[in-house]
Amino acid sequence: MMRLPKFEYSTPRELAEAVKIMASVGPEGQFVAGGTDLYPNMKRRQQTPKTVISVMHLPELNQITGDGKSGVSIGASVTLTDICENPLINRDYPVVAHAARSISTPILRNMGTIGGNLLLDTRCNYYDQNYEWRKGINFCLKKDGDVCWVAPGSSKCWAVQSADLVPVMVAIGAKLRFASTLGDRMIAAAGLYNDDGIDYLHKRPDELLVDLELPPINGWRASYQKLRRRGAFDFPVLGVAAWVQLDQAGLVANAKVILGGIAPSPVKVNEAAQALIGQPLDREHIEAAAEAAYVKARPLDNTDFVMNWRKQMTRQYTLRALKELV
Ligand SMILES: Cc1cc2nc3c(=O)[nH]c(=O)nc-3n(C[C@H](O)[C@H](O)[C@H](O)COP(=O)(O)OP(=O)(O)OC[C@H]3O[C@@H](n4cnc5c(N)ncnc54)[C@H](O)[C@@H]3O)c2cc1C
Ligand code: SF4
Repeated sequence: MMRLPKFEYSTPRELAEAVKIMASVGPEGQFVAGGTDLYPNMKRRQQTPKTVISVMHLPELNQITGDGKSGVSIGASVTLTDICENPLINRDYPVVAHAARSISTPILRNMGTIGGNLLLDTRCNYYDQNYEWRKGINFCLKKDGDVCWVAPGSSKCWAVQSADLVPVMVAIGAKLRFASTLGDRMIAAAGLYNDDGIDYLHKRPDELLVDLELPPINGWRASYQKLRRRGAFDFPVLGVAAWVQLDQAGLVANAKVILGGIAPSPVKVNEAAQALIGQPLDREHIEAAAEAAYVKARPLDNTDFVMNWRKQMTRQYTLRALKELV
């Protein structure tokens, strides 16, 4: 049985208190929400904070406000179950509820939060193993070692961004609010992710995710398709989020295709958007966009399934995601 290492646990009731505790403990501290990612990582000694600060009792992080007309704000500690069941999200942002429903299992969704999902650690077959297993291969660059077993010549870690809501939030243009003792800042979801499996977030460790803002629904539509081995539950080894806005004439005015699960950060396929913009959302242009996504996708051999097959599936899953929007 894997045991948690010893750590101090703190449960602040106010945002100001939470960021103050984090500032006082420095790099030894880490926030936790549902703990469905952090605690397994601690058991495997991938992350070893000395102080764990819960964000589950902070009122600002536990509410959903607004509507599709004005935009919706979702607190970072709202659970995935609450996202799946919320009538407003299901009515105005069905793509968000759909992606949340595809995450892990009902029990894990009762604990796991939307904030924890957006800040999920990157994943790799050589990393998501217990301590002894990792010791057996002399560890790797991401934790305790000095070589990347996926690309031994590389000085970079290629662990994969594997959270289902990440490509969706990037595609729909969500914004994220962070707080620290230095003040608040708001950034676009698209600007949060860094293409490096170790340093995968443009965020300081002391910054607390407060909430996310979904943009108003003004004619856009979005969809999400997920490739995984088991339909019941599994991390995505490819996720395709598609977003389009049509003009009065029914032509595509704006489009985004974002790939998750194939690189350390979500991949924006500009060529797919170019294939769609100014065109009807028909079979010919959808196929051109899917081809562009296939060309751009470069999965590596560090998750489930053979990488070439995952690349081929990018075409199919992009086709499916865009067809859903017709
Ligand atoms: C068996 C299993 C299957 C899973 N399947 C999937 C899946 O299919 N798809 C998927 O996307 N995920 C999956 N997950 C991962 C995880 O359950 C979810 O991503 C979940 O949403 C994580 O949320 P959490 O609240 O538990 O995060 P936590 O574990 O609490 O935190 C995750 C990270 O975010 C940080 N953090 C959390 N909240 C904040 C905050 N407010 N401010 C700053 N930092 C914060 C933590 O420090 C930690 O680094 C799975 C996990 C397991 C164990
Ligand atoms: S990509 Fe390389 S460095 Fe990163 S976790 Fe995997 S083996 Fe380790």
